Amino acid sequence: MKVLVTGGMGYIGSHTCVQMLQAGLEPIIVDNLCNSKLAVLDRIEALTKVRPIFYQGDVRDQAFLDKVFSEHDIQSVIHFAGLKAVGESVAKPLEYYDNNVNGSLVLARAMRTAGVKSIVFSSSATVYGDPTSVPITEDSPVGATTNPYGRSKYIVECCFSDFYDSQPDWSITLLRYFNPVGAHPSGSMGEDPQGTPNNLMPFIAQVAVGRRDKLSVFGDDYPTPDGTGVRDYIHVMDLADGHIAALNTVGQKSGLHIYNLGTGNGSSVIEMVNAFSEASGKEIAYEICPRRPGDIAECWASTSKAEQDLGWKASRSIMEMTADTWNWQSKNPQGY
Ligand code: NAD
Ligand code: UDP
Repeated sequence: MKVLVTGGMGYIGSHTCVQMLQAGLEPIIVDNLCNSKLAVLDRIEALTKVRPIFYQGDVRDQAFLDKVFSEHDIQSVIHFAGLKAVGESVAKPLEYYDNNVNGSLVLARAMRTAGVKSIVFSSSATVYGDPTSVPITEDSPVGATTNPYGRSKYIVECCFSDFYDSQPDWSITLLRYFNPVGAHPSGSMGEDPQGTPNNLMPFIAQVAVGRRDKLSVFGDDYPTPDGTGVRDYIHVMDLADGHIAALNTVGQKSGLHIYNLGTGNGSSVIEMVNAFSEASGKEIAYEICPRRPGDIAECWASTSKAEQDLGWKASRSIMEMTADTWNWQSKNPQGY
């Protein structure tokens, strides 16, 4: 099955392409390389012995997408392409709405023109805002997002839901990721943030490899066991497998399908620091700093809906997440 993968050169998209190729699916990648490098294609080829078809281009360019759809018999789309830095979204809201919202609308229009009716969309647990209770189920309230990035994901969910109501023969799957971390176990692919990392795991990895002096722990006065923020970290390989499970199950059935992709377990910042230290044998220097504005105390997923409908469950441990991140970071200290 040929699947258009937008943003397939990025962190989650590249790992998903590898797993797709291993599963006998054929990804056709569209990416404008605004946050990724061409070298990713070589790494995918080295791991799978297949060089996926790649088009450098922008999902906001419908003429370009029309051409891609006309050249291949595409059955489904996985839509990863977008901008993802929360802080940057506050400074550049128009760019975020244009890329994430407009990009998704242009893509849906191009799919309609081409008669492709199955899409899996990268949403985020951020659509739940500050949850009233944990674990978070797919029925928990959504929409109380705290920044333009989160709102852009919520808006796309609303647009796709309205679009589904008008086109009930489509399959639209919204996957709400919790906190993706880790890397391919080979150490040849991983997360390669440009500039200072915003997220915890790549920041810790850069401290361990000596690119940064110390981690700032944003708050130790949350109502959590050790006072630091608790999140549901999920290995990127599990996340990749979750997309394939979604494609193979609900991706083949009309409906608006919504799933959390998480592990169902919460880990604190300090627990992640300690796990990384153990995996890498490096001490991770850190200092306690004030809370980061907009952060929530804790969140983790209810995983039963995905387990039941997709037959998928995350299986990789925190030890594998930290060990694989370290393997990638130590072999590629400057990224790709
Ligand atoms: P990433 O930045 O590594 O990958 C996104 C890719 O999309 C990049 O290769 C980038 O060059 C490309 N891209 C961006 N705008 C584009 C455009 N207009 N046209 C074509 N290509 C474009 O990010 P990621 O971590 O792999 O995230 C993938 C998706 O998952 C994003 O939509 C993100 O918002 C979502 N998500 C990520 C996380 C996370 O923590 N990484 C959590 C929840 C949701
Ligand atoms: N965090 C931290 N220092 C950092 C980055 C993150 O203490 O440099 C904390 C953050 O406050 C949160 C957790 O780590 O409790 C996960 O943050 P991340 O930005 O990775 O994910 P998100 O906020 O999207 O859940």
